[in-house]
Amino acid sequence: MYDICIIGAGVVGTNIARELSKYQIRVCLVEKEEDVSCGASKANSGIVHGGYSDEPGTLKAELCVKGNRMYEQLNKELNFGYRETGSVVLAFRDEDMKTLEKLYQYGIKNGVGGLAIIDGEKVRELEPYVSKEVKAALYCRNAGVTSPYEFVIALAENAITNGVELKLNTAVVGIEKVEDYFKVITNKGEIQTQYIINAAGIYCDKISSLIGIDDFHIIPRRGQYVLLDKEQNYLANSVIFQVPTELGKGILVTTTYHGNLMVGPNAEEISDKDDVGTTEDVLENIVKTARMSVPDFDMKQAITSFAGNRPISSKKDWIIEESRVAGFINLIGIDSPGLTASPAIALKVAGLLKQAGLELRNKKDFMAYRKPIIQVKDKNFKGDINSTNPDEHIICRCEQVTETEIIDALHRNIAIKSIDAIKRRTRAGMGKCQSGFCRSRVKEIIARELHIPVEEVTQRGKDSPGLPERAKRGKYIKL
Ligand SMILES: Cc1cc2nc3c(=O)[nH]c(=O)nc-3n(C[C@H](O)[C@H](O)[C@H](O)COP(=O)(O)OP(=O)(O)OC[C@H]3O[C@@H](n4cnc5c(N)ncnc54)[C@H](O)[C@@H]3O)c2cc1C
Repeated sequence: MYDICIIGAGVVGTNIARELSKYQIRVCLVEKEEDVSCGASKANSGIVHGGYSDEPGTLKAELCVKGNRMYEQLNKELNFGYRETGSVVLAFRDEDMKTLEKLYQYGIKNGVGGLAIIDGEKVRELEPYVSKEVKAALYCRNAGVTSPYEFVIALAENAITNGVELKLNTAVVGIEKVEDYFKVITNKGEIQTQYIINAAGIYCDKISSLIGIDDFHIIPRRGQYVLLDKEQNYLANSVIFQVPTELGKGILVTTTYHGNLMVGPNAEEISDKDDVGTTEDVLENIVKTARMSVPDFDMKQAITSFAGNRPISSKKDWIIEESRVAGFINLIGIDSPGLTASPAIALKVAGLLKQAGLELRNKKDFMAYRKPIIQVKDKNFKGDINSTNPDEHIICRCEQVTETEIIDALHRNIAIKSIDAIKRRTRAGMGKCQSGFCRSRVKEIIARELHIPVEEVTQRGKDSPGLPERAKRGKYIKL
């Protein structure tokens, strides 16, 4: 019997798991995929938002600001990668000025520090490559960039270190309330638990309906991106937004935590929750729109495209509550800024559990620290693709990933064995050649370290579905 069963190991579920691992309770974290961070948490903009975009008084606004303030400390403890870069929202037309003023007022009411409306000249001082058409911007000092999937991995590893049981490849297919506890039915058998936390992201409606709560629905809203080579990152110092549209924060141009230039996302409602393909017409439009902010990025330096799906709820604001089924805590429609807010969401859920009667007594031996996987390579680093020293043996040339880093990732407390799982932890395959050089080398190391035949190593888990349909590079780089 667990005290708590968390369904979904995205950034929300793993933040909750890590928070609850501070207490003397039995927690399991159930995930249908082969690894953590396989949903929206791996395919987003990676922005730690300042907190001025959402209307004051909403849960989104409150938890975004609180979550933002927790990142620096969390990164010190968990080493996943976070950098405060600031952000600007650009205004091109007179009517955009009204939007800047509205966002500024939202920010002040939401308690966001470091906000100012700056004129075009000042914008170009901060961001020399923005368009000459820019008239002004809302500057926010407290925004930043993070590596979203590394954040989830770090949270999960640390939660496991502190006693949480992670069950991968385990899909929840049914829930039964039995007197004062639940039976969670999965493809791997039954789990008994006092409380359930529904953190299933885009599938939160499906999980909720298993217990008879179906008064809302979730629509997937896809966002596509183009990722460019690190050579292009001089074009954006901070996160460069345009004024938001009805569908969201609009197209941004940013340098990612690991230094690529990234443009996107659009916002398109689709019917298939799992469709994370990219399409040429949308990417063309994204590039065109992004050029209004930063005209001169070079699409010959585009290395890949990808997409993620936001869970848009018919309830509009997030719902985080103990539902009418006692002991079942629902998290509904955690779309953007869910990544930013996730540490604060975890605190809120812990509060709800206390209110529901769960005793949360601190563990004396809670271990807050988690060692990074990726090692910083300074100018003294001697990497060589033929080295026999694993610390210097370069497996991925583009991202300078060593054999030691891959071995480290494989022997941590999350049992992984796919090429993509290694990619998310070490960056092997994330670079310009998109794994053309390192794929077979990574495969061999996985097989050797896990004592399995090379043929058993898959790209992404047991059934290894093919890569999502992606726009052909040749077409969209013409722009
Ligand atoms: C295009 C895009 C851009 C975004 N940009 C930002 C940004 O810059 N900043 C920001 O703050 N937020 C951003 N967001 C929002 C943010 O990514 C999400 O709010 C956040 O990732 C949601 O995390 P989650 O854990 O709720 O969902 P997910 O990461 O989707 O995790 C849910 C998990 O539940 C699992 N699951 C589902 N059903 C079952 C089942 N039956 N059994 C077991 N497991 C199950 C899934 O496999 C998945 O791993 C963006 C989102 C998108 C899509």
